Amino acid sequence: MPCPRILIVGAGFAGHAAARRLLRIARGRAEIVLLNPTDYFLYLPLLPEVATGVLEPRRISVPLALPGVRLLLGHAGAFDLDARTVRWADPEGRRGVIGYHRLVLAPGSGNKLLPVPGVTEYAHGFRGLAEALHLRDHLIRQVELAAQSDDPVERQARCTFVVAGAGYGGTEVAAQGALFTAALADGRSLQPRWLILDTADRVLPTLDPRLSRTAAQVLRHRGVQVLTGTGVAEAGPDGVRLTNGESVPTRTLVWCVGVRPEPLVAGLGLATRDGRLIVDEFLNVPGRPDVFACGDAAAVPGALTGMTARHAVRQGRLAAGNVAASYGHGRRRSYRHRDPGFVVDLGGRSAAADPLGVPLRGAAAKLVTRGHHLMSLPGNRVRVGADWMLDAVLSRRPVQLGLARGGAAPLTARCASGAAS
Ligand SMILES: Cc1cc2nc3c(=O)[nH]c(=O)nc-3n(C[C@H](O)[C@H](O)[C@H](O)COP(=O)(O)OP(=O)(O)OC[C@H]3O[C@@H](n4cnc5c(N)ncnc54)[C@H](O)[C@@H]3O)c2cc1C
Repeated sequence: MPCPRILIVGAGFAGHAAARRLLRIARGRAEIVLLNPTDYFLYLPLLPEVATGVLEPRRISVPLALPGVRLLLGHAGAFDLDARTVRWADPEGRRGVIGYHRLVLAPGSGNKLLPVPGVTEYAHGFRGLAEALHLRDHLIRQVELAAQSDDPVERQARCTFVVAGAGYGGTEVAAQGALFTAALADGRSLQPRWLILDTADRVLPTLDPRLSRTAAQVLRHRGVQVLTGTGVAEAGPDGVRLTNGESVPTRTLVWCVGVRPEPLVAGLGLATRDGRLIVDEFLNVPGRPDVFACGDAAAVPGALTGMTARHAVRQGRLAAGNVAASYGHGRRRSYRHRDPGFVVDLGGRSAAADPLGVPLRGAAAKLVTRGHHLMSLPGNRVRVGADWMLDAVLSRRPVQLGLARGGAAPLTARCASGAAS
């Protein structure tokens, strides 16, 4: 093959890691094309810090300007795997078709929406920058409107915030959000109330129970009500009804109830497991030697890997090596599950982490957590570090920007069947 074209669909953790690794391996002997709807890689684990005003949104958006990689700004639509072509549309709706020799599918995942009445209309999603900015404005606005209301019922409803789903995203939003609204309410005789719900019997149900205990303690210490074994039965404009029968007057329901793979995977006509594309241990789609998949969208053999950035990055790098091996450069390798631990930033001076299985809390966990994020960010490290330092010594600017209206941050995922969370 003179100069193979490698098309990577999706420039998140997996796709971005694959492109960077391929750049180093190929050294100009392959054309690398990255198809992604935005011109930046979004570092999702720091999204809660954008929603609570610690970080500016551009800090976690790393430009996709990789010399040697052609960025195709657009959304992949239809795939013809026999003809090796992908139809795509750019952000202004113009359409195109691109051919490839090797395809790496890394479109990630989106909001998982359960068939709970009112959730689509009244819940806030939490998967992207628009949603984080919208939530930040919304939290500030609720506190400001509560302060200017004379009606005690309205004041309390506006100052009540419900988070559905106590995975790492939901737990971080609740823990950091409680600190943020406490600072906003200071001097306004308001008492913000936060609730976090999960149908599981503990927060952070997929992580080590020791991290769950630390997170639950921090949440309770901040006055966050932790309701396990509980979900949302119905959401409305003025409140939510919980599965335990309680009605909570609120204007805020943040939906962090898990994720499901990007729907484009289902449209490929290939075998899936729990909505994820089945691949072999080389991240190769069975029967399609030219197609690879990695990250949240891929189901690697063995126990399904959690949908985490760490797995996505390792899989992206491995897929890159195996793509190169498929056209004669190097040897292909199989994916091995490894659990290097997890970090959960709970805001303020709190965090929970278990690097290499060693459970940490307090300052040590915070240090590990921030160090991990800085090392994992593919760019903007100095800017992020500077924001953290400023946040440690200055108060946050509690102003609404109005950049992301509700309509810009819809909870647009398709409904998946399942029990209410
Ligand atoms: C709020 C939040 C906090 C998180 N915190 C952590 C954490 O602390 N630690 C951790 O390990 N994980 C965390 N995760 C999970 C982690 O972010 C994901 O597991 C990881 O992003 C998966 O990487 P990916 O490359 O598969 O998908 P993504 O990073 O989601 O990237 C997918 C990319 O594909 C693009 N795309 C989608 N559809 C198309 C299409 N049709 N055509 C072209 N491009 C497309 C998307 O725009 C995106 O750029 C968090 C997730 C969220 C939402």
